[in-house]
Parts: sequence; structure tokens; C-alpha cells
Amino acid sequence: MKPYWQNYIDGAWVDGGAGRVDIINPGNGEKLAEHALADEADVDRAVQAAKRVHLSGVMSDLRPIERGRLVQAMGRYLLDNIDEISRTLTLEQGKPLWEAEREVHGAALYFEYYGNQASTVEGRSIPLGAGLFDFTENAPYGVSAQIIPWNYPLEMTARSLSAALTTGNTAVIKTPEMTPITNAWFAHAAEAVGLPKGAVNILCGWGHQAGAALSSHADVNQIVFTGSVRTGIAIATAAAGNVVPCVLELGGKSAAIVHDDADLEAFENDIRWGIYFNAGQVCSAMSRVIVHESRHDEMVERAVNIAKSLSVGPGIERAEAGANMGAMVSEAQRDRAAAMVAEAESQGATVATGGRKMNIPGAFLEPTVLANVTPDMTIAQDEVFGPVLSVMKFRNEAEAIKIANGTQYGLVGGVFTRDLDRATRAARQIQAGQVFVNQWFAGGVETPFGGFGKSGYGREKGREALWNYVQTKNIAIRLG
Ligand code: NAD
Repeated sequence: MKPYWQNYIDGAWVDGGAGRVDIINPGNGEKLAEHALADEADVDRAVQAAKRVHLSGVMSDLRPIERGRLVQAMGRYLLDNIDEISRTLTLEQGKPLWEAEREVHGAALYFEYYGNQASTVEGRSIPLGAGLFDFTENAPYGVSAQIIPWNYPLEMTARSLSAALTTGNTAVIKTPEMTPITNAWFAHAAEAVGLPKGAVNILCGWGHQAGAALSSHADVNQIVFTGSVRTGIAIATAAAGNVVPCVLELGGKSAAIVHDDADLEAFENDIRWGIYFNAGQVCSAMSRVIVHESRHDEMVERAVNIAKSLSVGPGIERAEAGANMGAMVSEAQRDRAAAMVAEAESQGATVATGGRKMNIPGAFLEPTVLANVTPDMTIAQDEVFGPVLSVMKFRNEAEAIKIANGTQYGLVGGVFTRDLDRATRAARQIQAGQVFVNQWFAGGVETPFGGFGKSGYGREKGREALWNYVQTKNIAIRLG
């Protein structure tokens, strides 16, 4: 591991005006490296570089199929370097190696998927009668500012960067303070495929400094953000000041409704992935299970067995897929999750298993199951962003839907039943951007993803996401 990592602005690796930050390995609590921190002047240089490249037309004037090829090649570059990237990701973020490898594959898939679609961003012709020819085209916005969270630093950047480049934009990426290092490979990829200097700029900085400077910069044309509601509101407010659009993906408190006829044995797998993958630090985590009262005890017992079956420890030693869970991103995030469990207990929830910090160095929390959670408890309303499953009961379908919809969020939801009518009814009634039936996380890069309510607006993934990166221009021509 290199001891010091720089920012990448206008094709050069540079120090930051705000000094350096220590990057801590959450798997052992030790310092891993230092990273440069950008200040307002660095942000301005990056935005000016991206603006210059945009205005030159070198990206937007490329034939889309050629731009798509470059984007796809960036994904292949990531895969060519998967060993080094995934080891680095594990060291800075805490997830086990097998999860880090999945994340690199996931990141590469975005470049493959969007690169493939470059020529599909077409306009249309509009009949206006004889003597006029009218058509639309979908033009890139220009400088896309992308503010990235720490839970999936590679996949989140890949998601927005691949779509922005495919549609002919340039980008300034603000990486998260805790996990900035692996984003360096996007700069290497951009260089390797021959993107012009300044088309992709990557800088780490404090949210309140570099993040705020980027989201309020007058030469930014479009903003993409994933993270907390509070920061999302600050970014949307800054964007409104410059009248630029943004896409906000702000987390959730997503619920699975488990009916009395559900296959609970199969559901064990959904628990494993839904709440313990990435130690629960997933915006679309299955953080609530609302189960029919007749199956509550069995459900809790199965969840406890899954939680106890996981071996928890430093991610760098953990290559066996599925069987283990790594550290949370930081001790502060771990302590926050543990405090939320304690608060739930004080409000009447039962800790069926877990809930404690583990007695080893690093940011580890025991995989946790809370039973007897009720909708009024804080744990049933607020995002934990940790390996904590809250189990709640319902008596009838209407009550289940009411509980599922009873938070400020609406990112995803799920329903588990063998009854297709019941599943379809619930899927329509759940107020969320995506609903899974009988398999949590059943979607993919191809399926549109985003929130209802305070989970945000705009869509990532799928073809829908591409429309966030282009603006429609109409051209009306008088003939003859
Ligand atoms: P955050 O929203 O503060 O940070 C996310 C990103 O926004 C980081 O890059 C940060 O530097 C930047 N940022 C912070 N303040 C900013 C500002 N004023 N202007 C511009 N950018 C700014 O999230 P956090 O503090 O790291 O985590 C807090 C909680 O947010 C978590 O516990 C979790 O509940 C939630 N979260 C959700 C997701 C998700 O995927 N939806 C991801 C990370 C965190």
C-alpha cells in the first residue's frame, strides 16, 4: 500500500489545498495511508478542467458508438486490475475480499452496460407540416458533479461516471473522506483508454468544504449524490441556487412483508444477503421484516441462526463467499449502530442475538436480530446502516402495508408469499421505487433504481438513468 495518495485534477496527480486525511483500516483500527484533501481552489480547478473539455466538444462530438467503446474499455481496465483494487477496497472499507471482488465486478458491469447503450440515446423527429423539419436531440449537460458515499465507493462512482461519460458529459468526482483510495483506479482507467486530460477529475475532501464547494459551483451543470437525507437537502439547496438538476439517492428503511404462506427456509438466504451483506451498510438493505404473527417466532429463530452462522472478522482474510461478514466502515458508524440497538432495547424491543461491539480490534458489530419491534420505535423509523434486522408483527394485509409505508423513506420494499394476487396487490401498494417479490435484491444494473419520499428522486441504473445526464434540445428548420 502506497503511504500517500493524491487527487487527480486535469490529468495530473496533485496535493490538496486542505492538507491530508488519515485513512484508517476498519478491519484493525490502524492507519492505512494518507490521502490529499481538496479545498475550494482545487474544486474550482477541477470544474474548470471539466468545463474546458466539455466546451471543446472532444467528448460530446464523438460518435456515440466510439464513446461507448471507451466507456466499456474503462470497465475492462478495472477487471484487469481486480486483485489490487479489491484488496485495497477491503483495506479501506472493511468488507471481506469476496465482497470487494463482487464490487469490482459490479463496477465494471456499469461501464459495460452503459457503454453498450451509447447509440441508443436518440432523438425523434416531429411532424410540423410541409416546409418545416423539426427534430430533437439529447445533449449532455456538461460538467457532472458526483458526490460519493463510503459504503460502495467503487460501484457508486461507476454507476454515475459510466452513464455521464456515455452521454458525452465530463465529470468531477468528490470521493468520501473515509474511503477515497480505490477511486484512483477510475483515473488510471480514463488514462489507459485515452480520455482527454480533464474529462474525469477525482478529488477527496471534506463534505462541508470540497463537497459544498462542488455542489454550489456555478460551472457545474448537473449533480448526482448518494448519501444521507440531511446532506441531500443541502446539495439540492445548493443546486437550486444555480438552477441545475440533481439526482438524489438518500437511503431507506426498507421492509419485507412476509406472509403466513411464505417459504421461510428460502427466506433465510434473503436475510443473509438483505441485512448482513456489506455489514448492513446498504441503502436498500432489508432492515425491517414485517412478518405475519403466526410465523413470528419461527422467523426470529431462523434469523438468529443465520446471524450466528456468520463468522465476523478482518475482511482481508475473508475470501470465502457468503460465509462471513467484515467490519463496518468506522468505529464511529459501529458505535452509532450499537447505540441505536441499545435505544431500541430501552424502548421495548428484544435483542434476540447480537447487538454488541465485538471484543477485537476494528469496527466490528455482532450480526443483530431485534424482535418485538413496533412501528413507533426509533429503530423502526431511522436508518441504522449496520447489520441490524428489526422484526415486526402484523395481523392482516392492510396492517402490513401500513407499517411498510409508515416511514419517511421509500427506496425499496419486498413481499414474500406463494399467492400471486397477494404479491401483486402488495407490490402496487408499497410506496417505494422498487419492489422485490420472493427475492431481496432481485434487480440489477439493468433495472431502474431510486426513491419515493425522502429516499430521493431521479433514477440510477437501467435505461431511465441515462435521461438524467442529457437535456432535450429541439431544432426547428424552415425548408426551402
Ligand atoms: P453523508 O451524506 O454526510 O456523506 C456522503 C457524501 O456527501 C460524502 O462524500 C460527504 O463528504 C459528502 N458531504 C457531506 N456533507 C456535504 C455537504 N454539505 N455538501 C456536499 N457534500 C457533502 O453521509 P455520512 O455522514 O457519511 O453517513 C451518515 C448516514 O448517511 C449513514 O449512517 C447512513 O444512514 C447514510 N448513508 C446512506 C448512504 C446510501 O447509500 N444511501 C450512503 C452513505 C451514508
